Amino acid sequence: MTLHNPFTATVLGIPRIGPRRELKRATENYWAGRIDAGALRAVGRDLRTRQLTALAAAGLDSVPVGTFSFYDQMLDTAAMFGALPPRVADIADPLDRYFAAARGTETVEPLEMTKWFDTNYHYLVPEIGPATTFALQPDKLLEELREARELGVPARPVVIGPLTFLKLAKGIDGAAPLDRLNDLLPHYRELLRLLAAEGAQWVQIDEPVLVTDLTAPELALLRRTYAELAGVPQRPSILVATYFGRPGAALPALADMGVEGIALDFVAGTTVNDVAAVPALAGKLVVAGVVDGRNVWRTDLDRALATLGTLLGSSGALAVSTSSSLLHVPYSLDDESGADAALRSWLAFGAEKVAEVRLLATAVHRGTDAIADELSTARAALASRATDPRLRNDAVRARLAALGPDATRRAPAAERSALQRERLRLPSLPTTTIGSYPQTSAIRQARAALRSGEITAAQYDERMRAEIADVITLQEKLGLDVLVHGEPERNDMVQYFAEQLDGFFATANGWVQSYGTRCVRPPILFGDVARPAPMTVRWIEYAQSLTDKPVKGMLTGPVTILAWSFVRDDQPLADTARQVALAIRDETVDLQSAGIRIVQVDEPALRELLPLRADAEQQYLDWAVAAFRLATSGVSDATQIHTHLCYSEFGEIIEAIADLDADVTSIEAARSRMEVLDDLNAAGFHLGVGPGVYDIHSPRVPSVEEITSSLRAALKAVPAERLWVNPDCGLKTRGPAEVEASLRNMVTAAQSVR
Ligand code: GLN
Ligand code: ZN
Repeated sequence: MTLHNPFTATVLGIPRIGPRRELKRATENYWAGRIDAGALRAVGRDLRTRQLTALAAAGLDSVPVGTFSFYDQMLDTAAMFGALPPRVADIADPLDRYFAAARGTETVEPLEMTKWFDTNYHYLVPEIGPATTFALQPDKLLEELREARELGVPARPVVIGPLTFLKLAKGIDGAAPLDRLNDLLPHYRELLRLLAAEGAQWVQIDEPVLVTDLTAPELALLRRTYAELAGVPQRPSILVATYFGRPGAALPALADMGVEGIALDFVAGTTVNDVAAVPALAGKLVVAGVVDGRNVWRTDLDRALATLGTLLGSSGALAVSTSSSLLHVPYSLDDESGADAALRSWLAFGAEKVAEVRLLATAVHRGTDAIADELSTARAALASRATDPRLRNDAVRARLAALGPDATRRAPAAERSALQRERLRLPSLPTTTIGSYPQTSAIRQARAALRSGEITAAQYDERMRAEIADVITLQEKLGLDVLVHGEPERNDMVQYFAEQLDGFFATANGWVQSYGTRCVRPPILFGDVARPAPMTVRWIEYAQSLTDKPVKGMLTGPVTILAWSFVRDDQPLADTARQVALAIRDETVDLQSAGIRIVQVDEPALRELLPLRADAEQQYLDWAVAAFRLATSGVSDATQIHTHLCYSEFGEIIEAIADLDADVTSIEAARSRMEVLDDLNAAGFHLGVGPGVYDIHSPRVPSVEEITSSLRAALKAVPAERLWVNPDCGLKTRGPAEVEASLRNMVTAAQSVR
């Protein structure tokens, strides 16, 4: 080693919602006017103090500072460089201005929100135009740095790098955000100077965009950016953090520049050979992400130590880290009492990962004898996981092995559609909804009452049936053609299934931030998946018993179930997907046997798991499509399969959507102005399609004229016999009054266009 080790143990970022979701509550109280800004800021400060102190006490000798956020780190970056959209500029209070950009107000549209790489976190998309005038406003970061130093914490400020910030931004008014790099860089330079003046020894600059495919001009921008930043005379040492994949060609480019350190994600594919192949790294600090920052499994310490041992030879100095920010995992296993001892021993949440990082760093620098006890505990846990009977369900494996190619094949679409037309006798332009109806307070109260034991399961069922009856009555009254039961019994479209399938563990307190104050509790998929009993049949059957119109069975697809869970890492995702698909397939068959004529299998997350690099896309799409087809090909050709897709730009996966071969695909299109229909046509798609005719993400009731013109636009791209009429997503977040008014207008519009 040529460098003195500046630090040895760290993590790339930390969760911020609070171990008990304190920040969520405080923020929502602030929005509702129940507390003032001072009280909200005090909650933030208190959480940071507790967390930073705990991290230092756990033995991290460099602690990330500045990953705290009242809403989102991309939004914080936009605020720091004076790049909030001009439409919020009139809002005087900085906190309210910030929240207005995040959530909108009565009069102001919020920024768009989209997925942070291939995680379940959503960031706000900054808007950068020719008129954006950058102006450094570093107070938040400087204050948090000061705060940490006052606590005696070895603080390392973290900022999102200029390339990632601009590349993820949306160009407006004809600008390509990266064209504004030259105007932005001086502000980053000034920030580095200020951080040094504030005593920062290191700064972490996050550039996850380096693990995606970059063009040659983008690589040139990378060189220019870091040459400029490294050239700042008085600055902290620079650690450029990459995560979520391999940096590829960006690694040698970056190593050539004068930055002092690079963080690499060895969990998501970076290899020791990648490092050895770049001689310049022998003069730099390598921060080795060997502890998975975004999944919940205990680290294989022996394997991590082997990686670290090799890296010692090819890096100038070595620090141990998580592969990414801990934003993506729950705080601590301490709050998880429901897991049995074995399962618990296989897991590591945030606090446990910090301990793993510390142990590994100790072993690297003082030898494995120094951690002998912990190492044997970890080995025993791993051995128990490998041999636990719940990890293998031989019946499921045998069934999957026995499936022939016919298992994913249905009759040609035209034959199916003739059979279904005959059986369903729907009018042209059939109207339907995506599944959920408003989750009313009565529903939430019933669920709470069941949890607290105030009502029995039978009483709960009674209340849900009453909700279903109401929703059926409403749909009949409105004159919809294909009805749904409304999903009142579902707390969440993935968790509901996870709770009923073998192989899943539903956490009690494993909250992670999805966006802003929205938190989710992804279930943990730890073993072979099997369906011990039907999961939805009794509800759908009941709904169908109330009406002569067809009621759609409503299921969540295998890819979405994986995307929104913490998934076992001991076998390929594709194999796990097949097991989930088999369970869903059994459910579709049971629904059919119960007399259900239409089954919808939702795959809103199909686009989300798309790999970050183009060369890995096809393999993913192959298994994802195969899993969907396995789930949906067990029914007869006369049973109509629907699917629903949303939350994304579908351009890149349009052929995969056609390959799903669903009889009807409802797709979010209210905002992308039906472009998706042209794309589908171009991909040779010739099945039923329901482009959302209005946007359910807003409380506004769409007028009959608006929906009519939406439908007429759709009819230019799709013949009437293939067109369905539906909103663009489920209605669970809306209020009953707007839903009724909106659907009434939708039905009227469909009738008038017919
Ligand atoms: N069927 C689900 C619902 O209506 C679909 C939700 C989704 O697309 N995310 O709520
Ligand atoms: Zn949707």
